[in-house]
Amino acid sequence: MTKYVLPDLTYDYGALEPHISGKIMQLHHDKHHKGYVDGANAAAEGLAEARTKNDFSRIVALEEALAFNLSGHVLHSLFWKNLSPSGGGTPSGKLATQIDRDFGGFNNFKAQLTKAAATCMGSGWGALMWDSLSARLMTVQIHDHQSHTVQGAVPLLVIDAWEHAWYLQYLNEKLKFFDAIWNVLNWKDVGQRFEHAQNSNLVLEQVAERAA
Ligand code: MN
Repeated sequence: MTKYVLPDLTYDYGALEPHISGKIMQLHHDKHHKGYVDGANAAAEGLAEARTKNDFSRIVALEEALAFNLSGHVLHSLFWKNLSPSGGGTPSGKLATQIDRDFGGFNNFKAQLTKAAATCMGSGWGALMWDSLSARLMTVQIHDHQSHTVQGAVPLLVIDAWEHAWYLQYLNEKLKFFDAIWNVLNWKDVGQRFEHAQNSNLVLEQVAERAA
């Protein structure tokens, strides 16, 4: 059976300092993300066992655990790729053009995504996603890892708003974290994801009317 695995970081734990501390990165990757990987594997195994025994009495809990942990694995794997020690600045190329078209400029986009991330109630994420129905970028405020998301939209850039992402360093001043993270965003990675997302297609017709 296929196993989910924890991906290595492509930079050192301390490489994003001073914006994100090495201690946070180490705990976040080695403990928190690993927990979601283990949880996703356990849920998949639980479902396989249920099929073997033809006993689906725990299916509600197993499906909930799968959605939570696998979504956590996906989002954290994206998050590490969205960050870079040589990040920051602004996007270029087609992504920059699309951001201008859909948000009316980079600063509007930055304000909207920062606000979405910073105002998550409880635990969640702010995300930039590509909606193939409308062929536009949108921000989404994900709760936990799997709620309040948009079906079929492709996540391009995700900002972890869980307390474990910032509390050790920023304590009660979480807005400073959501400002600092823009210094380490990897626009090359986000731009490549945007280009790949152009191939996503839910094969639905007449579900959106595009402005001329
Ligand atoms: Mn996290």
